[in-house]
Amino acid sequence: MRLVLLGPPGAGKGTQAQVLSKDLSIPHVSTGDMLREALRQTSPLGLEAKGYMEKGKLVPDTLVIALVKERLLKEDAAKGFILDGFPRTPEQARVLDHTLEELKIPLDLVLYFETSLPVITRRLSGRRICGKCGKNFHLVNFKPKVDGVCDACGSALVQRPDDREETIGKRLKVYNEETTPLIDYYGKKGNLVRVSGDLEVRPLNTQLMELFKKKGLLRGALANS
Ligand code: ADP
Ligand code: ZN
Repeated sequence: MRLVLLGPPGAGKGTQAQVLSKDLSIPHVSTGDMLREALRQTSPLGLEAKGYMEKGKLVPDTLVIALVKERLLKEDAAKGFILDGFPRTPEQARVLDHTLEELKIPLDLVLYFETSLPVITRRLSGRRICGKCGKNFHLVNFKPKVDGVCDACGSALVQRPDDREETIGKRLKVYNEETTPLIDYYGKKGNLVRVSGDLEVRPLNTQLMELFKKKGLLRGALANS
């Protein structure tokens, strides 16, 4: 199954993608995670992306597009993938479509996570991530077993620089300007489905699995998991 998750920051795309990735045995391809990983490794790409990310701006299309193309050609993406945080601009969407057409692997669905502003703000301001492995937590919704410590690797949890109050507004503005045109773009193509990003992880997951079943997308997807 080939999915794109579209929606504002704080819509819960990453969390839902993690669950789906496990259930469907397909990779979760998050450009945000990949860029943060590049930053932790202090690779040239990471260093170039850093300034944009911390200010809540988009990293230039050329960099992100190259990153995604390379990722989608890896073997594990052959049976499907969940794109999270990409495409984020009309140019990224055009290149993605073109690439997938060439490879003869069209997208099955674009899930648009419609999410209200209070929910977005609550999720982003309470989010904490592991400084070492990048795992996500939340001060209220998804607490670690020990306050301030990563369940997975025991390192300290930190706030993402772009989750600070003053940067959240900037990211939402960028989202409204650069990414919302994609709702129309995929709407016209006919593969967009609107889902509620306000729902908690489990109820939304149940709805999505129902949707996949109804669309006939689960045949084979669960068989090899
Ligand atoms: P969120 O969805 O919570 O805003 P992400 O983790 O997806 O956060 O992305 C964090 C930052 O990484 C973005 O604000 C942006 O700077 C950069 N980024 C991620 N994906 C893209 C993309 N497709 N195009 C450009 N920049 C991106
Ligand atoms: Zn960790």
